[in-house]
Amino acid sequence: MMEPVHDVVVVGKGNAALCAALAAREQGASVVMLEAASEDESGGNSRFAGGVMRFAFSNVEDLKRVTELTDQEIAGSDFGTNTTDEYFDDLFRLTQFRTDPELSEILVTRSLDTMAWLRGMGVRFVPNYGRQSGTVGGKRRFFGRLPIEVSGGGAGLVQSLDSAAKRAGIGVFYDTRAVSLIFDADRVTGVRTRQRGRAVDFRAKALILACGGFEANPEMRARYLGPGWDLAKVRGSRFNQGDGLKMALDIGAAPCGNWSGCHATGWDRNAPDFGDVNVGDKFQKHSYIFGLLINAEGKRFVDEGLDFHSFTYAKYGGEVLKQTGQFAWQVFDAKVKDLLRNEYRIKFVTKVVAGSLEELAGKLDGVNAPAFLKTVHEFNAAVRSDVPFDHTVKDGRGTMGIEPQKSNWAQALDTPPFEAYQTTCGITFTFGGLRIQAKSGQVLDVHLNPIPGLFCAGEMVGGIFYFNYASGTGLVSGAVFGRIAGTGAARAACEAGNESSSAIR
Ligand SMILES: Cc1cc2nc3c(=O)[nH]c(=O)nc-3n(C[C@H](O)[C@H](O)[C@H](O)COP(=O)(O)OP(=O)(O)OC[C@H]3O[C@@H](n4cnc5c(N)ncnc54)[C@H](O)[C@@H]3O)c2cc1C
Repeated sequence: MMEPVHDVVVVGKGNAALCAALAAREQGASVVMLEAASEDESGGNSRFAGGVMRFAFSNVEDLKRVTELTDQEIAGSDFGTNTTDEYFDDLFRLTQFRTDPELSEILVTRSLDTMAWLRGMGVRFVPNYGRQSGTVGGKRRFFGRLPIEVSGGGAGLVQSLDSAAKRAGIGVFYDTRAVSLIFDADRVTGVRTRQRGRAVDFRAKALILACGGFEANPEMRARYLGPGWDLAKVRGSRFNQGDGLKMALDIGAAPCGNWSGCHATGWDRNAPDFGDVNVGDKFQKHSYIFGLLINAEGKRFVDEGLDFHSFTYAKYGGEVLKQTGQFAWQVFDAKVKDLLRNEYRIKFVTKVVAGSLEELAGKLDGVNAPAFLKTVHEFNAAVRSDVPFDHTVKDGRGTMGIEPQKSNWAQALDTPPFEAYQTTCGITFTFGGLRIQAKSGQVLDVHLNPIPGLFCAGEMVGGIFYFNYASGTGLVSGAVFGRIAGTGAARAACEAGNESSSAIR
């Protein structure tokens, strides 16, 4: 029996895939989605995401395109700005000026409009009161250029987009793992899958790969990211095995971007090997900026206060991985207890408490205790007490005369009770991807010619992130390039021509 030919088939069912599917449907294309996971486990890394969204905005009017704000909220808040210039500066600075200029321009300049589009799809956004703000002079000040998050986090985002996809009549095949592209050496005409143990082919006039990176695949992590990366914990979905990247490379697609780089953070040392949707992103520990990071040798090894966590957390996971035993203790005293994010107060946490530094030293599993005490005494003596502490700005309250220095938010560790949290490296997603035509999402081959019928979006797009990352960019990038790929694929399907696409506008 001949399989039906769909206008557009989307592989994956995370944020990028759902945005791509909805955008293709908006163009009038018939669309189906293929998801490796069961319905219960579907949604990819997007479902695990905390849900902060980094987009360009210049004023409150821009924010009002994305979320409802009451007059009282507006009067009582300093939302700051994330102008297109500020967004570009952050992207370029963090990627050491390697981010692709065309891709990053599209990401930045279309981010606000795409947020408004998501809202139109039924996604609800709210001010990010819980994690990126503090009260200063009676006003709520938002910092890190990240004042908005999606209601219900990544799970809420996926749920809203899923409902929109259902309303739009987009079908989803679960337990359907794409394994290879159907390619006749001219164009991609479909994808071969394993569906509950059977081989099933899906024919398409255009195919969109939006099935994540290789973060959940230890063999590929060791091969591309380097020795030791096989030992990282996976923060999110276990289904992102690099299948889409492998399939595309197999037919000659061009790899692009930072294949030896990834996003990785501090993560509870005893967290499970893969993400747990009931815990979501809460195994992360992002308040290290207010404390000290201590390794097995009892030493500090990074500048904990280099910048807001938004601009360091994605690379510090890799620094933890390099340490003996792949762990670090985050140590705090009572002065900053109220500043610790809510992820420090969950049930599943590797934590010790002590009434003195000496007692704490004995409780830090795996750490050289005398060396730890020496480190703390030297640190305490190096803190610049002449500069006031202010957690809502980069306060410049650093250390002098120690290596590594702490640049901001340095305070002596001297007020019991002391608390310490043991972390390891949790990988979020990989940076290496495919080279695309920026304006359509079409995948290019190694000679930089477009591959007819093949598009990609989300983590699979290479060339945006290198070395580091600004929090909240992944979901926005997935939505921007998902929407572009969906539109591009629908148009390509229309051009490919067929009776079943006659509905395309
Ligand atoms: C714990 C955590 C917290 C995060 N917090 C944030 C945040 O607050 N803000 C932010 O912007 N970003 C955040 N991120 C990053 C963000 O989640 C990702 O950048 C984004 O979700 C990637 O979207 P995607 O659609 O490309 O991939 P995914 O959402 O991972 O979707 C990939 C999909 O492909 C499917 N799939 C994989 N292989 C196959 C196959 N062979 N066949 C069929 N289907 C397949 C998967 O099951 C999944 O449905 C976080 C990530 C994690 C893990």
